[in-house]
Amino acid sequence: MKYDYLIVGSGLFGAVFAYRAKMAGKRSLVIDKRSHRGGNIYCENIEGINVHKYGAHIFHTSNKDVWDFVNSIVEFNRYTNSPVANYKGTLYNLPFNMNTFNKMWGVVTPTEAQAKLEEQKADVKAALNGREPQNLEEQAQLLIGKDIYEALIKGYTQKQWGRKCTELPAFIIKRLPVRMTFDNNYFNDKYQGIPIGGYNKLIDGLLDGIEVRLDTDFFANRSELESIAEKIVYTGPIDEYFGYKFGKLQYRTVSFEMTVEDTSNYQGNAVVNYTEAEVPYTRIIEHKHFEMFGAEVEACPKTVISKEYSAEWESGMEPYYPVNDEVNNELAEKYRESARKEKNVIFGGRLADYRYYDMDKVVEKALVCEV
Ligand code: FAD
Ligand code: UDP
Repeated sequence: MKYDYLIVGSGLFGAVFAYRAKMAGKRSLVIDKRSHRGGNIYCENIEGINVHKYGAHIFHTSNKDVWDFVNSIVEFNRYTNSPVANYKGTLYNLPFNMNTFNKMWGVVTPTEAQAKLEEQKADVKAALNGREPQNLEEQAQLLIGKDIYEALIKGYTQKQWGRKCTELPAFIIKRLPVRMTFDNNYFNDKYQGIPIGGYNKLIDGLLDGIEVRLDTDFFANRSELESIAEKIVYTGPIDEYFGYKFGKLQYRTVSFEMTVEDTSNYQGNAVVNYTEAEVPYTRIIEHKHFEMFGAEVEACPKTVISKEYSAEWESGMEPYYPVNDEVNNELAEKYRESARKEKNVIFGGRLADYRYYDMDKVVEKALVCEV
């Protein structure tokens, strides 16, 4: 055997695993079917701006081991995600906090806001009559009341998931913070930032000194690739690995309409969500704001923006978000059961676990894997 590990996928899971294997004195070959490394965190430099090709990526975690690990590879900046919601031309701060409540209802103090929230939640509380929310609509109204649900959640969520809020699981919306302070930080995590110089620096640091073959699809040459390493680390879609023997899992995908704009500052923020159903895209990302602050914004004369359109995944498209409904979760569990029986294969990452992991979870999983 030429290698200890064949690592299928050069995304975050594959790259962290490869790094740890190298540190343990093991030889790995990393392959990726794409023409670049990094999976979904890959950035392309356009007009001096790191463009997040597969959607905005903000690293955030409360796990100090994970934070220390990624910072040992590349230093992170102080970027704090504070998206703004545009509803019919009016801007509201996210996540739901005193700035949002002030703009929505004119309330000024936390006590006034709390009273308004209770009034807003009264109908759904009465309808639920003590039972747990059964879907996203009920959960959202219980969390934040009907005005904010109608303006900032309903349209956006239906665009993002292509399903009615009444047909989506409640947990999706539970992760959004509700705060009685004037704090626009989208995340509650202790640590947050973007690698200085972009995500490619993180991937390059992890894969330094490791053999990587691009434009190489595991399934195009499976038996030969399987024979060159003692073990396989597989980070692609789990159903594809097993030849879709139980049927196909579903995903949501996103298409990005990227343009270079002849202005130094297009929207004044990295992320603006368009929350009404009538606007076809879910959000606009202005990439320079992830890494340029203050005078740096104006010093860079152009800007790159991406409009994000969410869509149902079909074969040949990029599978981005696992669909966490009952049917798909049951199917995924059958595949995971098969995966547990594959003795020489480690399954890891978002696609092979079919889970909605953020980057920190992927790093955490790869850090505790036995190498
Ligand atoms: P991937 O990055 O998908 O890597 C898998 C790699 O395997 C790919 O490069 C693929 O080409 C390769 N591969 C697959 N099949 C084969 C094959 N047959 N042969 C060879 N190679 C193959 N997380 C956050 O923490 N913060 C965010 O703000 C955030 N935003 C996100 C926005 C979007 C639109 C999406 C989709 C995800 C976001 N995430 C975010 C999640 C984050 O992208 C993932 O947690 C992380 O990138 C997953 O890494 P991975 O290695 O598991 O998978
Ligand atoms: N959401 C919303 N309006 C917004 C932002 C988020 O309704 O302006 C909802 C939406 O249902 C989304 C969920 O909150 O799926 C979680 O949002 P988050 O930003 O965490 O989703 P991500 O894009 O990171 O998966």
